[in-house]
Amino acid sequence: MPDMETHMPWEATRRALAGELAAIDGVLPGSVVLRQMRCGKPGCACKHDPPTLHGPYIQWTRTVDGKTVTRYLTQDQLGRYQQWFDNARRLKEIVAKLEIASLHAVEQSEAARSRAGDPEMPSGSRHRPPRQRPA
Ligand SMILES: [Zn+2]
Repeated sequence: MPDMETHMPWEATRRALAGELAAIDGVLPGSVVLRQMRCGKPGCACKHDPPTLHGPYIQWTRTVDGKTVTRYLTQDQLGRYQQWFDNARRLKEIVAKLEIASLHAVEQSEAARSRAGDPEMPSGSRHRPPRQRPA
């Protein structure tokens, strides 16, 4: 709709972001970190100075019903699900941008209406609720 875009330049931005959202087909909660650890075995190399720690292990941590749940992933598993972990971060970024673009669209739309002399949006009152039209 070229006519719409002339009046609402944020339209294209919002559509592009919506398109990116549509490509997200999986999202995993929590975070993944590589962790090296000490074990409980006495005299193990992980207790030496300097220590030779075990790992690195791929630790996936998320919150379930207010409790931290940890699961270890193999490199293969991480490879299979990495995209879904990345998607979780992208999703937050896209939503944040979409909010900004939508807020700009509201401001521009209301400013345009105000300039056009829309009787429901008299200038200087665009932050007040619009008057209700009688039914
Ligand atoms: Zn050890």
